[in-house]
Amino acid sequence: MSHLDQDRFALIAFGEEPTSDETTHLDACDECALELAELEHTVSVGRSTATVGELEAPPERVWERIVADVSAARAAEETVATVPARSRTVSRVLFGLAASLVVVLGIAGVWNLVRAPQVVELASATLDAFPEHPGSLGHATVIESPEGEVEVLVALDADAADVGYREVWLIRSDASALISLGVLEGSEGVFPVPADIDIREYVLVDISQEDDDGDPSHSGDSIVRGELDFV
Ligand SMILES: [Zn+2]
Repeated sequence: MSHLDQDRFALIAFGEEPTSDETTHLDACDECALELAELEHTVSVGRSTATVGELEAPPERVWERIVADVSAARAAEETVATVPARSRTVSRVLFGLAASLVVVLGIAGVWNLVRAPQVVELASATLDAFPEHPGSLGHATVIESPEGEVEVLVALDADAADVGYREVWLIRSDASALISLGVLEGSEGVFPVPADIDIREYVLVDISQEDDDGDPSHSGDSIVRGELDFV
């Protein structure tokens, strides 16, 4: 038989059993065996990264190809309505379409792999002043690192107190729970969110003025607070 065609490579690489003819050919043909091995490697790499995050949109031209394939399949279907004998053509077109989708999944996986690691912004908030701290203003941005770590970037513009320190908090919208992210040194800080905390449940970012009294709980003296707006 001749070399395997591209659609067959894609389907076999994604786990379909080769036919006995194809197996015989792959055993005998180094060129096809190598191409399949490379594609299988790409698929396995694509799969392992696909679980990390959502697949990014593949390039525009890939979608254009799918649209073209769908149109071709529809056209073939309409033809078949009058000429039933051509149903084989339809199944071949649909088969080709399925193979294209498989290739797209592969490309999307690779696309995901080759693009530079990105920090994703999840949410942000303007932190407004409490009456006891007029003129204060803060800002919080929640990001997710390429490794999946969630961090809160905080900036505060407020008059420094003579004593004590400032602490950054995440608070549930109904105020039923809060956690301390840590002490804010100076006017800016980056605070990792503990892995067991769902940032979508703790939507209030609060910066408090704390006394050096050894009490780890919130002083009740908030400087600024704001609710996260998710992207
Ligand atoms: Zn071959």
